[in-house]
Amino acid sequence: LAFKETYSPLTSDEIIAKEKSMMDEKRFKHCIGVSKTARKLAKLNGYDEDKAALAGFVHDYAKQIPVADYVQAIKEEGFDPDLLNWSRAIWHGIVGAYFIKRDLQIADPEILTAVNRHTTGDKEMTTLDKIVFVADFIEPGRDFPGVEEARETAFADLNAGVGYELAHTLEYLAEKRAKIYPRTLEAYNVWAVSAD
Ligand code: GDP
Ligand code: FE
Ligand code: FE
Ligand code: FE
Repeated sequence: LAFKETYSPLTSDEIIAKEKSMMDEKRFKHCIGVSKTARKLAKLNGYDEDKAALAGFVHDYAKQIPVADYVQAIKEEGFDPDLLNWSRAIWHGIVGAYFIKRDLQIADPEILTAVNRHTTGDKEMTTLDKIVFVADFIEPGRDFPGVEEARETAFADLNAGVGYELAHTLEYLAEKRAKIYPRTLEAYNVWAVSAD
């Protein structure tokens, strides 16, 4: 495991060790799976494979940072106070990008935006946003009804993969009567709705 050392003053080994220290083994393995799948999707879509691999690796860096640290960051770092009405499921992308910049010293705006958008998607998504969003959903460790169809769809057509994932996530959230983050819904309306 190694990453190109152009996006941070930290070495590849330092980034890997720091991330490993932040999460349990299961989450760390997931991040490696997302990194590998992001590299594969980048190759298929003519995007920078090394950059996609790093973005995929760091996407859940902040997933297990304590809630109190999130609340403090949201209050003190200029985030929308409405975020306080949500939970770590939503925070770890949007606020996670802040922790990655602070701790891993990755400042590349494309990587940080891809992390920001990886849970909810967004109305506008760059190629890297789509790669990380979809890789998170279909990495080899994922196992849920529909994952094989999600993989086939995404490897054939990245935009279709985004749409498949958003439809699946909306169904899952509505099924358990979970509160939908507005940006998730906005993304669904752009990427998942079929043409008339
Ligand atoms: P993970 O970090 O690898 O587990 O995956 P994600 O970052 O994609 O998603 C984290 C959690 O947020 C999952 O349980 C999603 O179902 C959930 N999630 C995604 N969108 C929304 C939303 O709009 N509202 C709520 N409540 N949860 C969401
Ligand atoms: Fe995540
Ligand atoms: Fe996701
Ligand atoms: Fe993830």
